[in-house]
Amino acid sequence: MANVADTKLYDILGVPPGASENELKKAYRKLAKEYHPDKNPNAGDKFKEISFAYEVLSNPEKRELYDRYGEQGLREGSGGGGGMDDIFSHIFGGGLFGFMGNQSRSRNGRRRGEDMMHPLKVSLEDLYNGKTTKLQLSKNVLCSACGGQGGKSGAVQKCSACRGRGVRIMIRQLAPGMVQQMQSVCSDCNGEGEVINEKDRCKKCEGKKVIKEVKILEVHVDKGMKHGQRITFTGEADQAPGVEPGDIVLLLQEKEHEVFQRDGNDLHMTYKIGLVEALCGFQFTFKHLDGRQIVVKYPPGKVIEPGCVRVVRGEGMPQYRNPFEKGDLYIKFDVQFPENNWINPEKLSELEDLLPSRPEVPNVIGDTEEVELQEFDSTRGSGGGQRREAYNDSSDEESSSHHGPGVQCAHQ
Ligand SMILES: [Zn+2]
Ligand SMILES: [Zn+2]
Repeated sequence: MANVADTKLYDILGVPPGASENELKKAYRKLAKEYHPDKNPNAGDKFKEISFAYEVLSNPEKRELYDRYGEQGLREGSGGGGGMDDIFSHIFGGGLFGFMGNQSRSRNGRRRGEDMMHPLKVSLEDLYNGKTTKLQLSKNVLCSACGGQGGKSGAVQKCSACRGRGVRIMIRQLAPGMVQQMQSVCSDCNGEGEVINEKDRCKKCEGKKVIKEVKILEVHVDKGMKHGQRITFTGEADQAPGVEPGDIVLLLQEKEHEVFQRDGNDLHMTYKIGLVEALCGFQFTFKHLDGRQIVVKYPPGKVIEPGCVRVVRGEGMPQYRNPFEKGDLYIKFDVQFPENNWINPEKLSELEDLLPSRPEVPNVIGDTEEVELQEFDSTRGSGGGQRREAYNDSSDEESSSHHGPGVQCAHQ
């Protein structure tokens, strides 16, 4: 089905959006005959509406404006010519549907159903390459057998018990001169405000006016779309009689990727290299999100410091709606140092001869004290030894409440 901004004019003619010229003409002729003021003086403005709807939809230019932008498109497209405003406010404005009261309204004043929100999980690959996927969902549509009436025309009666309001007010006398008003859902019509004779009830929908239908939506995930972005299917939510259906809104949920992290249009990755590569240059290959094998080269003579970041321009995510422009790829280098005692001590002096020379140690005058440098696991908090015991001592409450565990004390 065509994705149109508004279906009101189609509804007036009783044709689906996307109806052919012939279907429109047929529908119009039939309705025009039926509601012509000469024949049907009580139909009120119905004939005007039908004529207006047909006038717009039979004109390709106007129809396109309407399909794309709805009422607003027509208003702007028409240049606000004389006489148009009248019929506009009549069809789209509050007048015709004013009695709907304070229900949530759409742009055109019709009561509007709720939007249906669905999360849609997508991989980073999908967001990079774009993807078309089909989504199956079940929704209420107006029953085709009874046209959403629930039964034969005339079968639907206003509920007499509640006078069509769906609720009944009960007044209870608590004490002389003191009454309590209570509102309760009408039990005769279950709050619907109307009843249908059992024998006149539509067989297909059992008088419910709507039936469940499985609908398949074709979802286009465009290149460069982002986490949290919405894809809207206008008017595809549940249908109900007299209500403009709400939208189906898909909320994109980007799945975590094992190599790349995304930041806007940029990508980030971490790559492990050894000391040799960090000092002597390297080359490595990784698979990009579109399957390309990317070769990264770094020449001998250039040094990678542990934790440093280098950038590859233009290898990030494609920009949404401008996919030939891409963000950048940032690679953070995790330099793996060799293990303790990885080399024979004699060889170390050979290595030292090759490496940049040590700074000269200044002569220290006076007393010195030599200390031992120990291994320290930063993930396990500070301390050890005597100070930790002091912290753990529960009698020393003041000190432990001032310094939580793991906080290093500066004083010696
Ligand atoms: Zn039905
Ligand atoms: Zn009732």
